[in-house]
Amino acid sequence: MYTIKFICEELNIRPLISNDLSSKISELVYDSRKVNNPDESLFFALKATRDGHDFIPDAYKKGIRNFVISNPVTFFEGKNDVNVIQVDNVLQFMQELVAYHRNQFQYPIIGITGSNGKSIVKAWLFQLLIPEKKVYQSPKSYNSQLGVALSLWNLGPQYDLAIIEAGISEPGEMSSLQKMIQPNIGIFTNIGVAHSQNFSSKQEKLKEKMKLFSQVDTLIAGSDYIDTEQIDANIRLVTWGRTDRDQIQLIQEETHNQLSKLKIRIGEVICICQVPFTDRASIENIMSCIACMYFMGYDAETIVERIQNLKPLEMRLQLKKGINNSSIIDDSYSNDLASLKISLEFLNQQNQHNSKTLILSEMEGLAESEKLQQKLIGLLNSSELQKFIWVGNKYPWLKDIEIDLMKEYATTEEFLEHLTELNLSNESILIKGARKFQFERIVQRLALRSHGTVLEINLNAISNNLMLYRSLIPKNVKLMAMVKAFSYGSGSFEVANLLQFSKVDYLTVAFADEGVELRTAGIALPIMVLSPDRDTFQSLIQHNLEPEVYSMDFLHEFIEFLEEQKINDFKIHLKLDTGMHRLGFFPSEIDAVVEKLKSQKQVRVQSFFTHLVASGDPNQDEFTTSQISSYLTAAQKLEHGLGYKFIKHVANTSAIVRWPQAHLDMVRLGIGLYGVDMDKNLMNLEQVSCLKTTVTQIKELPAGETVGYDRKGVLNRDSKIATVKIGYADGYARRFGNSVGKMQINGFLAPTVGNICMDMCMLDVTGQDVQVGDEVLVFPDLMQAASDIGTIPYELLVNISSRVKRVYYYE
Ligand SMILES: *Cc1c(COP(=O)(O)O)cnc(C)c1O
Repeated sequence: MYTIKFICEELNIRPLISNDLSSKISELVYDSRKVNNPDESLFFALKATRDGHDFIPDAYKKGIRNFVISNPVTFFEGKNDVNVIQVDNVLQFMQELVAYHRNQFQYPIIGITGSNGKSIVKAWLFQLLIPEKKVYQSPKSYNSQLGVALSLWNLGPQYDLAIIEAGISEPGEMSSLQKMIQPNIGIFTNIGVAHSQNFSSKQEKLKEKMKLFSQVDTLIAGSDYIDTEQIDANIRLVTWGRTDRDQIQLIQEETHNQLSKLKIRIGEVICICQVPFTDRASIENIMSCIACMYFMGYDAETIVERIQNLKPLEMRLQLKKGINNSSIIDDSYSNDLASLKISLEFLNQQNQHNSKTLILSEMEGLAESEKLQQKLIGLLNSSELQKFIWVGNKYPWLKDIEIDLMKEYATTEEFLEHLTELNLSNESILIKGARKFQFERIVQRLALRSHGTVLEINLNAISNNLMLYRSLIPKNVKLMAMVKAFSYGSGSFEVANLLQFSKVDYLTVAFADEGVELRTAGIALPIMVLSPDRDTFQSLIQHNLEPEVYSMDFLHEFIEFLEEQKINDFKIHLKLDTGMHRLGFFPSEIDAVVEKLKSQKQVRVQSFFTHLVASGDPNQDEFTTSQISSYLTAAQKLEHGLGYKFIKHVANTSAIVRWPQAHLDMVRLGIGLYGVDMDKNLMNLEQVSCLKTTVTQIKELPAGETVGYDRKGVLNRDSKIATVKIGYADGYARRFGNSVGKMQINGFLAPTVGNICMDMCMLDVTGQDVQVGDEVLVFPDLMQAASDIGTIPYELLVNISSRVKRVYYYE
């Protein structure tokens, strides 16, 4: 265990402020919202899209007393209970500390990099090696400058091998990852096009990635992906490929029914290996794994046997609707403390149920390590769990876990037998088990089934997009997130929980009902309602929802209602019409509004806003300028008349990007949050939602036949037609019929044939390799799809029917 004193001595630095240098440090904290052991935490004020220095008071409030900073912090003045280390670069200091920690261990460390497949190869190798070895793998896809540091911090004496993933997006990043990881064995998965905008060429990118391997003894790679000439002669190369110069040679592959039969030479031995994958990426990842096992001395027979048992892995944590009105968090791909901590953090963000449950299986290494047991107990005791279900050996130390309701089962079967008695309902349930416990069977029982069509929503992408827009506005400008229309189709509390955790300032819904739904799901943020109806006044008040007020009549009625209820100072949002001509007061009405407001005390203006009609269109910039200026004039008049200040806001997504002068006190972020870049200015928006369906049936039909209702789909050649499970009732507009819409299957685009039916439609897959059960992307390019039927992405998103199950991912 490190102390502050020890850290300062080893890293050769004098603390700026010292109180108790014997403070122990076991946790590295970089986010003040994620603190679970404050006494032993060291807070790093990192500078990313947000400046960690701003969160020092919050971290202090949570009990942290040890800090690493780079800027002077006035907050520490007069505090005599803190230890503060000041350095030039906080991240670099964290990395040096982690490199020191890594050097305490002599066991081999495998470093994996490449454009794709890093996480899969890591997770598969873990599965393949675990029967003999105690393996540590970096959690999730923690492969960045920060992620790698956090991963390595978890190294401990209980392991005999570690697998660490490294990813870069810019030149220059790999050397610092290499210095931390110092891998002895390197695996290079492949090189592709991901992130290439920051590199001048593929060669440059390859050269940068290869820096991870500058000190390895052994490098494992596909011979097509590396330049063997360039590899240092001291490095032992183990290559896989299609030639007889490769130690692992893929001689032949046949695919049939979603299975591949691979003929492979492993060293000198030729074997046949059957795997449940047909895509090229999976086969390559398998080759990397085989090469690694071969290098580690496994015989061909063992390798083949284990490879044949590999299963597709869901790498991401998923949030789904469960039975009995519960929420299921399915994170069953790996089970170790680091990833448990991440999923508990996610569970803690869920407010929709009052009760939180964890179903946990035994994890690797736990039985032997008292330190791990203590850490697990600490983690669970500081969590917000009401129920804890343990599957595995019944250890005496489990008694130290203080959770109201605890159940223990020896096996997954035993748990499943007792499942109904547990009456799990109205709760958020985190399911986390090691592979061999097959917790997917528990998920199957508890999660509601989706019928082939799902809308996948990537919560990390929402979070990253939010940060991106935040980085465009000054720190003191508030951010209102638009969650109207089911968060543009993405979900209600699932998205709002994340936004609340991310500390946005306001949420906005269209109708009172939507606001009530969020309140019921435990959302405490202020909520503005855009189109409140008179018959919902009661529920506005009851749930503390703040209405947009847009007309004199409405203002009078609302005040009257509040008067009857004897309520004062209720917050309202006044809307000005500067050109949209939808809802709102005209600038000419401001005097009358002031007069009315001054004569009452029932309402108070919380904010005053207008909506720009064409902030994204350069041809309308003159009009936008006039909208902003007439808003500002009216705002001044209103403020002067009322004699108090209120929040001023006009900017929607496009205006955040194009009209910095319109940021004012607050911005209203909508479509951009959901990953749709209407402006084509922000290169790094991440795609949030992905509508997927599956192939239900395939037919070979001769030329001259017709497909679908009214015989509109006339085949003028012999055709292969695939039926997919999505129709206009799911939100796939009928206008997409007859070749207008194109879906993506196995990488190619398939046009629709004939009219779209209510629950299904047909695609032309002539000449393509398609099988029943294959996954289909409904909108491979949302912008294109919208323009194909003469609409905008907003409409496609919000039309995705509520019967299409939403599955939320969090990495
Ligand atoms: C929907 C809406 C927004 C958000 O617009 P985007 O173009 O999606 O950013 C902002 N303000 C008001 C009043 C809205 O109705």
